[in-house]
Amino acid sequence: MQAFEYAAPKNLAEALVLLEQKGTNARIMSGGTDLIVQVRENRRDLELIVDGKKIPELMELSYDSSDGLTLGASVPCYRFYENEQIEKLYPGLVDAASLIGGTAIQNRASFGGNLCNSSPAADSIPALVAHSAVCLIAGSNGTRKVPVEDFCTGPGKNVLEPNELLVSFLIPPPAKNFGAHYLRFIPRNEMDIAVVGCGASLELDDDNKTVKHARISLGAVAPTTLLVGEAAVELEGKQIDNGLIEKAAAVAKAAARPISDMRGTKEYRVHLAGVLTRRALQKSLERAKGV
Ligand SMILES: Cc1cc2nc3c(=O)[nH]c(=O)nc-3n(C[C@H](O)[C@H](O)[C@H](O)COP(=O)(O)OP(=O)(O)OC[C@H]3O[C@@H](n4cnc5c(N)ncnc54)[C@H](O)[C@@H]3O)c2cc1C
Repeated sequence: MQAFEYAAPKNLAEALVLLEQKGTNARIMSGGTDLIVQVRENRRDLELIVDGKKIPELMELSYDSSDGLTLGASVPCYRFYENEQIEKLYPGLVDAASLIGGTAIQNRASFGGNLCNSSPAADSIPALVAHSAVCLIAGSNGTRKVPVEDFCTGPGKNVLEPNELLVSFLIPPPAKNFGAHYLRFIPRNEMDIAVVGCGASLELDDDNKTVKHARISLGAVAPTTLLVGEAAVELEGKQIDNGLIEKAAAVAKAAARPISDMRGTKEYRVHLAGVLTRRALQKSLERAKGV
């Protein structure tokens, strides 16, 4: 394993100075469950690891009914399912947090690290997209906001500049009659990477039947997580039933453009995209109706 320096800045400004000085030779570390593995396998060349866990903004977890949830980039997954408010209001996030690795990994791993690692199969990304999360990014020139679905640009690639870091996710408060779900298919029960993952959310009208707003997001079927807008169009403004869910699932399936690899063939993944979309919508509907 290569030698590197370690810094644990106590505020954002200090971290940004370090990134500005070291450029691509520095990396932010949240949980280290991807980064340390990559450094140990000599897949990352770096001089400095900047620990995010001492920076208050990166560890923030707060909710208010007008702005919604602020989820710091380095907050570990276990804090989601220990929080009753998040469990109730952001169920899709809790679904994803409970699936990443196992208990030990969830004690360290963050959604910020999951997104910045930018794997096409990352479990948090479709869930964040289903919940309409926006990234707050800080750099030496100020801050900017990017919707999660626009953050990754390819496998392992994203919109961050070398002098920037991800501060937090800003996630709107759920509307009345809202439900969301994330699920994935893996060949084993745990400790594997998604063959396909699907995040969905539904907001129903006051009649509890008509779809006011929908979001469907697929992971591991393209170089980056897909937001399948055309599947949402299939649902919006219509009364939801199993037939309508099947139609939306067929549209999502048609949007999938996966590759074949050791985890599954292209055809298998396309099939799974339809099945998982149907199941994610059914569970979202149950949750929207409070069943
Ligand atoms: C045994 C095991 C099982 C796993 N299972 C799963 C799984 O089921 N599903 C899954 O999706 N992943 C899984 N992973 C991968 C990994 O645990 C997740 O991707 C995790 O969410 C990464 O978060 P982290 O906080 O540890 O990131 P880190 O390792 O700290 O960082 C990952 C990358 O993001 C960058 N980064 C981190 N924070 C920031 C920031 N604030 N700003 C800018 N860049 C940042 C780092 O520089 C690095 O490039 C597994 C890993 C292991 C070792």
